[in-house]
Amino acid sequence: MALIRAVRGMKDILPPESERWQWVETTAREVFRLYGYRELRLPLLERTELFARSIGTDTDIVAKEMYTFIDRHGDSVTLRPEATAQVVRAFLENRLEKGAGVKKYFLMGPMFRYERPQKGRYRQFYQINCEALGSDAPELDAEVILMLWEILGRLKLSNLRLLVNSLGCPECQEDFKAKLKLFLFSREGWCPDCLRRREVNPLRVLDCKSQTCRELLKTAPVLKDSLCEACSRHYSRVLTLLEQFGIDFEEQPRLVRGLDYYTRTAFEVTAAALGAQDAVAGGGRYNGLIRELGGPDLPGFGFAIGEDRLLEVLPEAEGRSADQSVFLAALGRSALERCLTLVQELRGAGLAAEMDFDGRSLKAQMSLADRLGARWVAILGDRELAAGEIVVRDMKSGSQESIRIMELKSALKNLAAAEEGN
Ligand SMILES: [Zn+2]
Ligand SMILES: [Zn+2]
Repeated sequence: MALIRAVRGMKDILPPESERWQWVETTAREVFRLYGYRELRLPLLERTELFARSIGTDTDIVAKEMYTFIDRHGDSVTLRPEATAQVVRAFLENRLEKGAGVKKYFLMGPMFRYERPQKGRYRQFYQINCEALGSDAPELDAEVILMLWEILGRLKLSNLRLLVNSLGCPECQEDFKAKLKLFLFSREGWCPDCLRRREVNPLRVLDCKSQTCRELLKTAPVLKDSLCEACSRHYSRVLTLLEQFGIDFEEQPRLVRGLDYYTRTAFEVTAAALGAQDAVAGGGRYNGLIRELGGPDLPGFGFAIGEDRLLEVLPEAEGRSADQSVFLAALGRSALERCLTLVQELRGAGLAAEMDFDGRSLKAQMSLADRLGARWVAILGDRELAAGEIVVRDMKSGSQESIRIMELKSALKNLAAAEEGN
């Protein structure tokens, strides 16, 4: 029969690669804990209108890339293309805005975009998200960027660039839009999308992916020149703090984010190993979004790490678990019975242990242990069993020695501890 394959644009993440993913997530969780962020676990499916209203109907995401379908009840639902809108939805629906202080959340999981599948781009991809709701203080912007930097640093990522810009408040954006519109109408050669955008939503022209548009935009006005005094002060305070904490950044006056809701600080982290358009992480401030979604006038700030891309640039050696597992090779019926107990004892003592139940030869069991990546093999035959002994083989050095069965657990624990200390 023909094999059933995965849906187009979807991929499987398998061991040992999945262990690297776990390591990335564990590292991020630990940093989130230090900064007071707590986990939200939200549905993958939301009402389509949530994204249309928050991300903006002229954005590429909403216009072209949403994974939208009609459910059996006739409702339009969408597999979440990003997290911020749904975090705000959950925040408001669960009345989390109550009480003082910044509300800090993180979230990890798959996002979906119905793009044409291409190398390194999947319709289901993974993000690590952080959202801080309830403060407009520039200190928060800087702190969240510092936290992101801490995560990326612990993951030993190098050659990263932090690009920062300010998108201003709606007032600055009005002024900028007017200048931009003049510019857009003074030039010809825009792609059909941009011809439409320059009428209805000129800001979106700035993130057009067409090469001709990008070329034309090189002389476009920049937002920085339209910043009002308050936005300007906010922006320079963020930059001062980043400097103070030793974060290298580059001002990128043409940086915009591909979503309508961003205000003030916007940033991206790019990795030299990826193409110019592929950010490892990005985020910024979204002061109008909570109100836009029917809530109070509360500011917010957050980021998303693109986990798939991050894994692409993660050094090969990082996140591989140092294998300290034990394989018990039993020869004969009585040895197998004894090993059934021993393997449970080892696991109870916190050692990863496995055995074979199928009565394979010693040679076959040794090659199985090798394939499983066992660090040690403990061999028990009838003769050893009668003598109360077991042979422990070091799979790295090939050396082996006979020890008392009773001492197996403590001997292996010592070996594991000694190795960890190295
Ligand atoms: Zn402003
Ligand atoms: Zn264009």
